[in-house]
Amino acid sequence: MRRRTLLLTGAVAAAGAAWGLRGTAVAAVDRGLNRFALDPDAPEPDAADRALHRALFIADLHADSLKWDRDLLTWSDYGHADLPRLDAGNTALQVFAMVTHSPVNLPWRDCLRAEDINHAAWLAAIQGRPVRSTRGRAFHQMELFWDAVHRSRLSDGPELRPVLNASELLALIEARARGEAVIGGMLALEGGHWVGQYDPSPGVVSAEIRSLYDRGLRVFAPVHRFDNPLAGSSEGCRKYGLTPAGRTALEVAEAHGMVIDLAHASEAAIRDAAGMLKKPFIVSHTGVRAVCEGICRPDRNLSDDALRAVLDSGGVVGVGYWGHAVGEGVANIARVMEYIMEMADKRGLAAGAHVALGSDFDGSVATQIAADELDVLTATLRRAGFDDGTIAGIMGRNVCRLFATGLPGGSASMARAVGRALDTGFV
Ligand SMILES: [Zn+2]
Repeated sequence: MRRRTLLLTGAVAAAGAAWGLRGTAVAAVDRGLNRFALDPDAPEPDAADRALHRALFIADLHADSLKWDRDLLTWSDYGHADLPRLDAGNTALQVFAMVTHSPVNLPWRDCLRAEDINHAAWLAAIQGRPVRSTRGRAFHQMELFWDAVHRSRLSDGPELRPVLNASELLALIEARARGEAVIGGMLALEGGHWVGQYDPSPGVVSAEIRSLYDRGLRVFAPVHRFDNPLAGSSEGCRKYGLTPAGRTALEVAEAHGMVIDLAHASEAAIRDAAGMLKKPFIVSHTGVRAVCEGICRPDRNLSDDALRAVLDSGGVVGVGYWGHAVGEGVANIARVMEYIMEMADKRGLAAGAHVALGSDFDGSVATQIAADELDVLTATLRRAGFDDGTIAGIMGRNVCRLFATGLPGGSASMARAVGRALDTGFV
């Protein structure tokens, strides 16, 4: 009996130690990949910067926080974003993206392939998440989001409130205007790799899109960093356009009221999508090739042709905070935004109406802005000479306008109602 107890105690201790080691390994990977490269020359926000920042409704188009074993409701001392840090930075609406397949470029070649070592799968393995199925990983991350939504209602911290349609966006804006401690959350997919993989027939593709919609997905990016059954990637080896399955997927997603995100898409895919989509689309987290120096990587960013396609659709471009997207230093974030504004102006569009935030927090990048010190970005834009109205647009209003028309229940009159609510409660 005593021997059995000892054995059992030993087994429990060993399992505990293994679990602890697993946690340590996950945290080490998280710390290593989601770093900060904070800019020593970034402006220190003054009282006027902070006052403007507190008066903004702030929306961010892309964070990969659900990929990591951190509690969304707890302030973590590593990684980039969680609800308390977003709250400290005055973020009002955060889009959370699901990454499910992420090839590592080893040995190095000019393009990424689906068969390369899959970082998302081995991360899932050490985190005890679905290993074999990209679909399984996506739905697992959606469950983590809904679990955080429910737990946030019982917590002392801010409530994570899902935004599934245009009226819920309006309600979120009104709640924040009343001073309620709520942060809106939306679910996005970064690469529908399994959609159409085994059966590209329209019925099967539509059913997959429908199941994502039913679980709350509202931003759909067909492709990530490699060519997949829906579309070619900007870093893929063939960089093709939309496949027939990709066309079906985008058509069905848009008809359901999902916003289409062409981040990571090849130029051909962006061209194809621009030719078929009926509503404005977004590129959630990017830089532009024309303003890309030093550590900035052109292939990751928008060409002028692709940028024109987004602008002409009436869409918005979420500008990233990390060096590969914009180059080194926060001043470059403003430079990229200025370039997009000049391009919009040349096309006869409202210059400031098409730029947004696309942090890529927790996207295995080194960000130059921290979620809890987002006022540094407001200060940066003010130093670059942006006026308050332009800053308010970039920091959130442009995204609200687009979501107010693109989400289920969205319309021009809903966009006007959202605009009025923003006018009442915010800058
Ligand atoms: Zn990405």
